Amino acid sequence: MNGLLCKSCGTMYPMNDPRWRCDCGDLLTVRFRARFDRKKIVRRKPTMWRYREALPIDDDDHVVSFEEGMTPMIPVDLGAGTLLLKLEQLFPTGSYKDRGAAVLISKAKEMGIARVVEDSSGNAGCAIAAYAAKAGIECEILVPESTSPGKLAQILLYGAALRRIPGSRENTANAALAAAETTYYASHSWNPFFFQGTKTFAYEVWEQLGFRAPDALLLPTGNGTLLIGSWIGFRELKENGLVDKMPRHIAVQAENCAPLLAMFRNGLDSVPAIATRETIAEGVAIANPVRGKEIVDIVRETGGEVLAVSDAEVEKALILLGGKGLYVEPTSALPVAAFLKYPGVRFGDVVAPLTGHGLKANEKMLEIASKGRKKRRKEGRTTA
Ligand SMILES: *Cc1c(COP(=O)(O)O)cnc(C)c1O
Ligand SMILES: [Zn+2]
Repeated sequence: MNGLLCKSCGTMYPMNDPRWRCDCGDLLTVRFRARFDRKKIVRRKPTMWRYREALPIDDDDHVVSFEEGMTPMIPVDLGAGTLLLKLEQLFPTGSYKDRGAAVLISKAKEMGIARVVEDSSGNAGCAIAAYAAKAGIECEILVPESTSPGKLAQILLYGAALRRIPGSRENTANAALAAAETTYYASHSWNPFFFQGTKTFAYEVWEQLGFRAPDALLLPTGNGTLLIGSWIGFRELKENGLVDKMPRHIAVQAENCAPLLAMFRNGLDSVPAIATRETIAEGVAIANPVRGKEIVDIVRETGGEVLAVSDAEVEKALILLGGKGLYVEPTSALPVAAFLKYPGVRFGDVVAPLTGHGLKANEKMLEIASKGRKKRRKEGRTTA
């Protein structure tokens, strides 16, 4: 049966019930029978909506889309081996979060929702704000007061209302939960429809590999919006007999903020409280991911692992990518850094997304680029 399921208490709600969590307080999952018609798929436009029968939107008129998706996937020789990179930085708002926003906001439109709230100063906020603008849905984005103004430009330009919340990131999350008592919560971590969009990442990888699954996926992971989405997508393909195996889902975290690594290594069933430090991989600096258990269960079930890389390793990977003509934000370099650091992951077809555009983080990128230049000059001198 289709609907919104709470795995914790077993309650099932109708699919178009405008709620984002169970009455018991726990997370919801979308139960939906995805179907695939390969003949139809290959004839349609190259967008994520070519998998129309697999997306839980009832009426085509409710689809909110910039014709996004079907991002290129290219092999890149990294010296240590070849990684298949999917260029997710090419989405309309500059990150793969558009996959989630497209389906979530389409569903909001379908339910006749007039106003949404989200908390994120980063790419999820940008994506929700852009799709809400396209849908004519009012949008409020809550951000920590400390967020740099540069990062807010995109959200403001899309016409979203910005509310700055004093104190920590946690304070902002709590303020969003309070606002969500009365406004539909378009959260990229809580709202289950977001993952119905990010799952299209898996479909595209499947199609681009010639309708088969890769051996492994290297995914930068904080809240797990891409990792969980990818797993949903491949599981649906498997249930339909369209792939014969699940790819290993390998989560890559920043060493300075790695709760999932602690959970995985120590065999824990919930996210432990951990000490964190600042990291340049700000996109995955999530100390307490609400779907932490779901993420680590997926990693375990698919024979994957959780890996972590340092900021220095991320910078090196960024410079390497730049030298190959690929300009992405620091968080996006995590899988490449992990690929270079851990020989164990270099087996068979390994796919990694480049999650966000470098133009989002120009100031940071300039620092990294000039450090890299200095270093190259120094090395040049010593070998001369
Ligand atoms: C959101 C995001 C990720 C993945 O983060 P999750 O918290 O796991 O959803 C990775 N890279 C970038 C650039 C992102 O914006
Ligand atoms: Zn429940």
